[in-house]
Amino acid sequence: MRPINTSLAEIAEIAMGRQGENDQFRSFLESHNEQEIDDLVARLDGEISPRIDCTSCGNCCKSLMVNINEEEADKLAQHLEMSRTALDEKYIEKGSNGMMLLNAIPCHFLLDNKCSVYEYRFAGCREFPALHLPGFKKRLFTTFMHYDRCPIIFNVVEQLKRELDFHNN
Ligand code: SF4
Ligand code: SF4
Repeated sequence: MRPINTSLAEIAEIAMGRQGENDQFRSFLESHNEQEIDDLVARLDGEISPRIDCTSCGNCCKSLMVNINEEEADKLAQHLEMSRTALDEKYIEKGSNGMMLLNAIPCHFLLDNKCSVYEYRFAGCREFPALHLPGFKKRLFTTFMHYDRCPIIFNVVEQLKRELDFHNN
């Protein structure tokens, strides 16, 4: 099994030096079949994610904008024994288009590097980094935006480069 890198500091530094390479890799991926890439990414995610301890990382909760929907906000308000108005005032920012976001980065609910509302976390939190989902090629922008801060994305992308023999192309 190949070694993986879980050092957030190292990953951030390596990522700075690989911006050009990653732009080329994104273009390289365009020529590949979508299903082939989804299958490969899902397999690599299945191999790499279990080897990374998200509870000792928590970096997504420290750096992501989190979208919320009405149902999620209602459930969380109930769980926190707050009114919806109080929840909205304290934790939520509303865009002009009705979109709702958590109003702080890092997330309010990250305590001691753990999610304090884990059962009530939002769809975006549950899905991230979304490598198990179809449509990887449609999410290249957001995936590569988080390459420098999510060890799962970083290691899956680096392994994907090897599997596709990117460096010899
Ligand atoms: S709600 Fe929980 S999982 Fe989602 S960003 Fe906040 S701390 Fe992280
Ligand atoms: S999903 Fe990525 S950034 Fe978030 S805790 Fe896990 S390894 Fe860290």
